Amino acid sequence: MVGIEISSKIKLAVKIADGDNTVVNVRGREVGGRKVTVIAGPCSVETREQLLDAARAVKAAGASMLRGGAFKPRTRPYGFQGLGEEGLKILAEARDETGLPIVTEVMEPDKVELVEAYADVLQVGARNSQNYPLLKKLGKAKKPVLLKRGLANTIEEWLSAAEYILHGGNPDVILCERGLRTHGKLTRFTMDLSAIAIIKEVSHLPIIADPSHGTGIRSLISPMSKAAVAVGADGLIVEVHPNPEEALCDGPQSIQPPEFRTLMGELRSVASSVGREL
Ligand code: PEP
Ligand code: MN
Repeated sequence: MVGIEISSKIKLAVKIADGDNTVVNVRGREVGGRKVTVIAGPCSVETREQLLDAARAVKAAGASMLRGGAFKPRTRPYGFQGLGEEGLKILAEARDETGLPIVTEVMEPDKVELVEAYADVLQVGARNSQNYPLLKKLGKAKKPVLLKRGLANTIEEWLSAAEYILHGGNPDVILCERGLRTHGKLTRFTMDLSAIAIIKEVSHLPIIADPSHGTGIRSLISPMSKAAVAVGADGLIVEVHPNPEEALCDGPQSIQPPEFRTLMGELRSVASSVGREL
């Protein structure tokens, strides 16, 4: 029995018994086990050189997977929309070179097969977290899904979105807390650390945290990463760019490789203090 009541209409995403935890296997890396998974890389794949530089740097610092968007959900139509399939090919090249599995976003049901042909983890962005045709399609996919929390989603709405994917037959869902829209003006979003602790209590699914989108501010990535691991996150997804000042997307919330290396070192001690390892 768990202490927080979740609607009985959510059946597959809830924890039935203590210790009943899903561990998602991504090319031999376990998400939701003892090890804290750190996914790192730029917001978007911009050029081959940029992505390979980022991939080598995050690999050297000990990241377990590489992120990078090829299809980008941008607030305005004028923003860089991503390289599309060309970006997926660059990601695959980076995986071949570094061995890091790749995490990348899919925005449309009709693109699931294409993205799945390259990616190791299919990311659903916050803006698409209640796109039910997309979630249904991902229920039939053979790759794990990283499901971001919608910008204003309750925990139950978020778990219900996960339910779509599980109900469709895909058991491999990783939740991601990436911040909510609140009244704060100083941060881009408000990272809900309690959501991480709540999910660990009510769901068997692994949950990671995204301090880049969660705050929008580079200097807050380190403290919020440590806080997320301390409250029980199974991993992090962090934006790392070789030259954030020149980034086509999300530069202000991206750290550089040296800062990422420092962060990895600091996270090791936080992880061990809560019985985890990096
Ligand atoms: C991203 O990961 O770059 C992204 C667009 O995230 P979100 O959907 O959480 O805004
Ligand atoms: Mn981004």
